[in-house]
Amino acid sequence: MMSKKKSPIWHPFTQHALQDEMTKIVRGEGAYLHTADGRRIIDAIASWWVVTHGHCHPHIVSAIQKQAEELNQIIFAGHTHEPAEEVAALLLKLAPRGLDYVFFSDSGSTSVEVALKMALGYWHNTGKPRTRVVVLQHSYHGDTVGTMSVGARGVFNAAYRPLLFDVTSVPFPADGHEQATLDALEAACRNENPAAFIVEPLILGAGGMLMYPAWVLKEMKRICEASDVLFIADEVMTGWGRTGTLFACEQADVSPDIACYSKGLTGGSLPLAVTLCRADVFDAHYSKDRARTFFHSSSYTANPVACAAAKANLDLWQNRESYGRIASVVAMQEHGIEPFRADARFKNVRRTGTITALNLEAHDGGYLAGIGPKLQAFFNSRNLLLRPLGNTIYVMPPYCVTAADLEEIYATISDAADALA
Ligand SMILES: *Cc1c(COP(=O)(O)O)cnc(C)c1O
Repeated sequence: MMSKKKSPIWHPFTQHALQDEMTKIVRGEGAYLHTADGRRIIDAIASWWVVTHGHCHPHIVSAIQKQAEELNQIIFAGHTHEPAEEVAALLLKLAPRGLDYVFFSDSGSTSVEVALKMALGYWHNTGKPRTRVVVLQHSYHGDTVGTMSVGARGVFNAAYRPLLFDVTSVPFPADGHEQATLDALEAACRNENPAAFIVEPLILGAGGMLMYPAWVLKEMKRICEASDVLFIADEVMTGWGRTGTLFACEQADVSPDIACYSKGLTGGSLPLAVTLCRADVFDAHYSKDRARTFFHSSSYTANPVACAAAKANLDLWQNRESYGRIASVVAMQEHGIEPFRADARFKNVRRTGTITALNLEAHDGGYLAGIGPKLQAFFNSRNLLLRPLGNTIYVMPPYCVTAADLEEIYATISDAADALA
């Protein structure tokens, strides 16, 4: 099929033969986006889960402006700078205890790649090579080859399958089937000598906003610890208040061995990611032998402007007000989703922290279910940014969202179910 595209831009996760018209945004402000044609759109998915405190938060914007005039890039091998040092120190203060070192990169995917390399490097350098990774069914950890390997296999990566390395997958802890997950994890840890287990704590995002309770997370950590398997928490999406606490692991009182944070790390203003690890993971690479170096970098590692934005975000999280905002978004989200629990048009109506999700009863069929793009177009026509995953509609707003915004969001979801019935 020959393209008849107007713009030369190839957009992410976009089938241009079905959707070539992109909504042009000229300005963002709090929970709102303004389009070139004069519409105001409510951003109900925080611009792909990254915008936490709202678009163009003044404290973050001013930190970016200041830093851009001082130092906007510096090679991070052999050099350091104040914004990176401040971010690292604050992260260690706020993250679960037991994490001691911070490695910077520039996206969630790279933070996971770094975590996997740290884990394998740890075993390699301690002379007990272990290379197998255990994963949870339906997981998503990114779109690079390594992160696709530890994520769910499906239509997204069918073309690249021969490049993906083999992993051991344990079943998702569906309601009532948690023990099967724990048993499978225990067996994998006992029989396969894995290097690490990687998991999205409390909620699997791109896999369909699948939620599971904190006690399961706690048990998974206990099992890994008993077998000396490194526990990697991919909090790229769940971090920064999304699940109701700053980090999801807090709710299970879990200290991961390695943790990945990105998305809301800069409040959603600039790309930046970090991978935190326990001292012994770092120490396994600490040697006068240069062959034990952690061989990873990206050109923009710890970019000073991105770090200044992250520092400004961390300032906001030192402030009680941010936690108050989270609590109120949690309450407003519960209020918004509650009526749908008894609504026959929907099933699996759920909430974890500030995230709600519900499935349209009549339209099962996975991510490619035809209903997804139709819903998205309907929401766009109603000036609402929602991007369902197949028949799963979810709401993950910036924390400055108002009760009135949420009322409109849920009324529009209800209208969509009727309009597309
Ligand atoms: C989004 C996401 C990633 C990948 O992050 P990018 O910044 O898009 O590369 C990894 N893990 C989880 C859990 C995510 O939600």
